[in-house]
Amino acid sequence: MKNNIVCKFGGTSVANAGQINKVKNIISQNNERKYVVVSAPGKESSEDEKITDHLINLATGGKHFRMQNKNISSQHSYDVVIGKFQKLIVDLGIEGKDVLKHLKDDLKKSLPEYKRIDFLASRGERYNAEIICQYFNKQGIPSELVLPENMGLTVSENFSNAYVIPLSYRNIKEKLSQIEGVAVIPGFYGVTTKGDVAVFSRGGSDLTGGEVAYAIEAALYENWTDMDGIYQVDPRLIPEAKIIPRLTYKEIRLLSSKGFDVFHYDAMMNCKKRKIPIQIRNTNNISSEGTLIVSERVPEEVVVGIARQDNVAYLYIEIDGMGDTIGIVNDLIDVIHDYGIETYHYPTDRDDVAILLNQDDLVGYAADIKDKIEREFKPDILDFNYNITILSPVGIGMKNHPGVIADAATALKEKNINIDIINQGPAQVSFHFGFQNYYADSALKAMYERLLK
Ligand code: ASP
Repeated sequence: MKNNIVCKFGGTSVANAGQINKVKNIISQNNERKYVVVSAPGKESSEDEKITDHLINLATGGKHFRMQNKNISSQHSYDVVIGKFQKLIVDLGIEGKDVLKHLKDDLKKSLPEYKRIDFLASRGERYNAEIICQYFNKQGIPSELVLPENMGLTVSENFSNAYVIPLSYRNIKEKLSQIEGVAVIPGFYGVTTKGDVAVFSRGGSDLTGGEVAYAIEAALYENWTDMDGIYQVDPRLIPEAKIIPRLTYKEIRLLSSKGFDVFHYDAMMNCKKRKIPIQIRNTNNISSEGTLIVSERVPEEVVVGIARQDNVAYLYIEIDGMGDTIGIVNDLIDVIHDYGIETYHYPTDRDDVAILLNQDDLVGYAADIKDKIEREFKPDILDFNYNITILSPVGIGMKNHPGVIADAATALKEKNINIDIINQGPAQVSFHFGFQNYYADSALKAMYERLLK
């Protein structure tokens, strides 16, 4: 829809009444901001946990936090969730009695565990949207709550990792075109064709924003966060890192999937198809222009950012004759996929391969996978290597610019840092160096100095 802006506000932007008031000011500044997607309340301070995590903890009887070695009972999570919404209602001065009643009813709903996790996880967005909508109306912004189930946002049955089914786009467009004022939409979830709530992967409200922007052919998708935009590297480690003014869809996809957690790694996919610009902005600093994501970037700087992914493991497998056996690498990878574990990067040589994955995904499965590979493939060497960090410089200008990898490698050599794994995608928009984690901070600093400063 012409000139319409989809705005998505992340957890910290809607974490308390003060933040929600900033959201209201942003919406009232521009009447093209008609579609507002909201997250559940996020952290107010670094010691807090997100409401979504409390909800998952509740659904799993305390297992969610126990697995992170945190001592937070499900009863405590229940109290935090109810307390948070109660406080929002009081602080915003809205009539929220029904909200609390419905929320409490939902939290009691009995469902099989895999469905209950998604249903409860979605309640943070569901009720925050209702509260924000009531607040907008009270403040004189005519608004309507539009739930995913009411706009036909239909998703697959992959609980906790659902994806949008394409028939949704027509439904969304039809429903939203009937809304007169501002539509307030809870992010992060949709409904399956059987009527069950299923959530996207974590951070999935970004995805809702991208899907809504695509469905209505928005002029712009604004993604409001608590950062001034996307930094070249993690500013906690390199405080002088700058905001990247412009990125292409391809670059943000690579940076997000390799460890930048500012924007969901799938949320740009449909915007890219319709060339809908995405602007990452800061709710707490509206004067910052943020980062604009578009199809082309001029000038094409060689490297725009360096992503960092910790907690990576790799399986190193050597089998004499591997290089002559058609399909063997695929069969090895399948062993891991059979456990529902995602893998990425497969540096190979004639008779060996390394298969990279998230080390947390191996918990509980490593011994079984090892046994299975030993039995079925009789490898000469089979090793699990843990605590690897992958650093991935990204930039569309790299392919026309010889020597970037050499520069990065030289910077590491000067610091005496040994590289375990090297991989470059054929698109030449990024490359990946893997090290033992204890090298990661100094490796990132060295590469930043050489490639970005
Ligand atoms: N609240 C969900 C999460 O914490 C989704 C989101 O905030 O985007 O992952």
